[in-house]
Amino acid sequence: MELVGIARLAASGELLAAKRTVKYFELPTRRLLNRTSERMPFQWTINPYRGCEFGCVYCYARYTHEFMELDAVRAFERKIFAKRFVAAGLAAELRKISRKDWIAIGTATDPYQPAERRFEVTREILKVFGAGRGRRLSITSKSDLVLRDLELLQEIARANILHVNFTLTTMDQKLARLLEPRATRPELRIASARRLAQAGIQVGIFSNPIMPLLTDSEQSLDAVAGAAAEAGATFLASGLLFLKPCARQVFLPFLERHFPRLAPEYERLYRTGAFLGGEYAKRVRERLQRVRARHGLRDAPLEYAPELWEPEPEQASLFEPAGAVRSS
Ligand code: SF4
Repeated sequence: MELVGIARLAASGELLAAKRTVKYFELPTRRLLNRTSERMPFQWTINPYRGCEFGCVYCYARYTHEFMELDAVRAFERKIFAKRFVAAGLAAELRKISRKDWIAIGTATDPYQPAERRFEVTREILKVFGAGRGRRLSITSKSDLVLRDLELLQEIARANILHVNFTLTTMDQKLARLLEPRATRPELRIASARRLAQAGIQVGIFSNPIMPLLTDSEQSLDAVAGAAAEAGATFLASGLLFLKPCARQVFLPFLERHFPRLAPEYERLYRTGAFLGGEYAKRVRERLQRVRARHGLRDAPLEYAPELWEPEPEQASLFEPAGAVRSS
């Protein structure tokens, strides 16, 4: 079969390094910004890597490896593509989009996964934002490597609206190790959140995905919310487990192995589709509202006025005072 587009680029990508079972490749990229659907709370995404070594058992982004004619289950965690881009090209892309648009870094793969220690693609992207102003930017990760870029993030936050989000499904370390085998431990994610909040950066926690009978109890959500609030996070957002076919192929065998009694329950819950709704979704939403209220957390980030921000005139009244996100 003749490979085309991104599959051809991936197949010809130069091998950058190999670490036991993980191999790293280079992926030349002309455009980093990707437009999202209107349903999303952000208009553009940037994913510095394709594939993710953290290997979470519920990951729905595995299908992105299929675009490169690669296996969504195993290769997604073991063949990692670092995007090669030109900084001037990203700056030119940014000039073409509205400053009112939100740009989200790390929506499909983790921007601070282990590959970032070597290749620094995320850091190079952030430097482009550090040289500009007036953007709305969010970064989402499960890694304490974010702290490496603390000064750069502070610089960005002085002239752009920035929030850094940590995904935290559970505070139970053993369960987290099973669900997210190579991601940073929950308490280290919280410690990183605290350090960023103390440095004046707005921090949010995503308790995504909420998994029925594993992480959906009020007690479990309360533990996450309590740790988030104590660390200085401003908001807690969340969604229910989304079982796309590529995620199902990993998640259901995982349940059979570690939680066999839950497997038939999940088969029943997800019999008709990848999403959960109805009464169950309503109950979880109510639980979330209660834990947020208990810990004084919002459900979405604050729009605040950065120190060096130059808002368009009609936007000035949207903002909270600059000090509103500072936790200390
Ligand atoms: S960190 Fe995110 S992208 Fe990486 S495997 Fe886990 S869910 Fe997927």
